[in-house]
Amino acid sequence: MAHLRFEALKKLAERPRVHVDAPNALVSKFYGENVFGIEQMRGTLAPAVFKKVSSAIKNHEKIDETTADAVASAAKSWAQTKGATHFTHWFQPMTGGTAEKHDSFFDALAGIEKFKGSELVQQEPDASSFPSGGIRSTFEARGYTAWDPTSPMFLYGKTLCIPTVFVSYTGETLDTKSPLLKALKAVDQSATKVCQLFDKDIQHVVASLGSEQEYFVVDKALFDARPDLVMAGRTVFGHAPARGQQMEDHYFGSIPSRVYDFMKEFEIECWKLGIPVRTRHNEVAPSQFEVAPLFEEVNVANDHNQLMMDVMGRVAEKHSLKAIFHEKPFAGLNGTGKHNNWSLITDTGVNLYAPSSSARDNLLFLTFFITTIKAVFEYSDLLRASIATYGNDFRLGANEAPPAIVSVFIGSQMTAVLDELEKKGDIKIEKGDNMYMKLGIDQIPEIILDATDRNRTSPFAFTGNKFEFRAVGGSDNCATAMTALNTIVAEQLDHFYEAVTKDIEKGTEKRLAIVNVLRNYIKESKNVRFEGDGYSEEWVKEAEKRGLGNVKNTPRALGATVTKKSLALFEKHGVMSHKEAEARYEIRLESYIKRVQIESRVMGDIAMNHIVPTAIAYQSKLITNANGLKGLGIDNSAVVKTIQEISGHIETIKNGVREMVEERKRVNKITDTHKRAIAYCDDVKEKYFDTIREAVDKLELLVDNEDWPLVKYREMLFLR
Ligand code: ADP
Ligand code: MG
Repeated sequence: MAHLRFEALKKLAERPRVHVDAPNALVSKFYGENVFGIEQMRGTLAPAVFKKVSSAIKNHEKIDETTADAVASAAKSWAQTKGATHFTHWFQPMTGGTAEKHDSFFDALAGIEKFKGSELVQQEPDASSFPSGGIRSTFEARGYTAWDPTSPMFLYGKTLCIPTVFVSYTGETLDTKSPLLKALKAVDQSATKVCQLFDKDIQHVVASLGSEQEYFVVDKALFDARPDLVMAGRTVFGHAPARGQQMEDHYFGSIPSRVYDFMKEFEIECWKLGIPVRTRHNEVAPSQFEVAPLFEEVNVANDHNQLMMDVMGRVAEKHSLKAIFHEKPFAGLNGTGKHNNWSLITDTGVNLYAPSSSARDNLLFLTFFITTIKAVFEYSDLLRASIATYGNDFRLGANEAPPAIVSVFIGSQMTAVLDELEKKGDIKIEKGDNMYMKLGIDQIPEIILDATDRNRTSPFAFTGNKFEFRAVGGSDNCATAMTALNTIVAEQLDHFYEAVTKDIEKGTEKRLAIVNVLRNYIKESKNVRFEGDGYSEEWVKEAEKRGLGNVKNTPRALGATVTKKSLALFEKHGVMSHKEAEARYEIRLESYIKRVQIESRVMGDIAMNHIVPTAIAYQSKLITNANGLKGLGIDNSAVVKTIQEISGHIETIKNGVREMVEERKRVNKITDTHKRAIAYCDDVKEKYFDTIREAVDKLELLVDNEDWPLVKYREMLFLR
């Protein structure tokens, strides 16, 4: 193993540089060249057919067979001119990541290339090996994938990829995209209804997402020499390097040249696929980076995020690098998140979270702004659950990561506006008064424009014209968080609409009715607003006083997805049936259990088969040395002390691993999934991981560097 470490380091030292030039054409010349979306359909379909497709997409309607045949034929021709041989339905099962099964266009029986509308619309991958959380045992095992025409097809390698949903034969959805699409439809309907109180021209509201993706980059050989990174995606051992991120010199610093070459190539590949990557920079930790795209409609943005992670992995490989998305690959360093920038935009082009220079539009803005805060207040536990994963548990509340307490930051200016509105809401408005001026909401744009305060410690922050949900994990699929957020906002908008119309029916003037409801919301949701340092100990105490949840681990956080309140919410908006919600709950618990299981095994294996033997061998050398010194009559107490220390750590490791294995055996017998997940959390992870790690990391400092088997943090994290 020591061998492996030094071989890897040698490979690293001898790597030739893979030089990548900036694109030799303007990006606009090749942007989206591998995409077959609405624009390409417009160009290749008969106008009548195109009209059908585009209207079906806009109104979330089914596409008939003849139309599908026409689209399939056009897509096939387009793909073939680019050398495509296969097509695949591309979907997002609950395993995380994406899945695909390729079929060739070539039909050997007929001797021709074929692609029918029915193949575009539906396919049958074998669902039995994808997680289904009990749906499988109770219902039909197999399922089908169905075309999602709202997300463009794309050519990946020589394969035409068709974004699809994944559904069981009995109709239960088995993926992350299906509930997302339904949540987006729900928020469209609810938001449109509310918008029409202000503007009858608004027919649709589209949710948009820009997800800033953080990631680490490590040399491939070094990555491969770490069984924990390979198996668990994070280092379960490793002493912090002498120089971590305390110098704060990596953030926004110049990008190491090897990584820069990788980034250039990766961006070119993304642009060809129509992924609008825009910003790149170093992140806080050494070897950590960020890529941010331009925002798009949520479903497309999320598909693009998933695809982007895949592209990044492949391009990294070409550069002998490994891109790591895990939420906490390196202890003691900044974790990895995926900030979800989110807003709602009308089909008339108004961003509902952007203050406007018109006072009337500001009331619309305030309606959405305040209703969203109220939604987060009402369903903070569901939002917390939506970002709960095993990996994210290591990140939330740690260095540079938002806490597990869900709160909303809005900045001092917006706080002042809400305070004012709350206070002045009682003001009598006479006929002919300028209500907006009286309420103090005619001035918002000027205030916001010079808003400079930034709060990086809030999990859910208003950033001028959008909310930023920062607690989403780096490796996660944004769909789960976006499904929760859009559904709770839809729900709150419904309540808002009902309350306002009731008040209007009683004879209250519309604008006043709106202000009345908003004032109540401001008061009722005040506890979820927090402007201070979210990383501080005081906030933890304060949040507890306010009655806000602070659920630190996934098995406990997930409970919020199956409460009566949540089940009713998802059902009401057609997002998920009870059965589906419960299946998802089960899947996520099982996935948690598996992750802890794997890590626990990896830990045991590395500790017992690599670390302990190395420590014993080194200890033997020291014993020889101690005896030699003693024979010469030289004081050997320092060496003896080290020998004792090493013995102590070896004991800790051996006992820890032995007990942990016993505990796993016991816990595995617990039949209830929720209880088993809790036991894995409390009795396996919490009880043993840190203790074992601490002993191993101490040994790393004691054992001769030449003998140490694991690639060290300092070797992995300082790419040039
Ligand atoms: P920051 O100050 O956080 O760096 P940026 O302007 O760079 O803000 O935006 C960060 C991300 O937010 C980008 O992906 C951007 O496209 C996205 N974004 C900007 N406006 C919106 C919006 N209205 N809705 C959703 N995402 C948005
Ligand atoms: Mg940001």
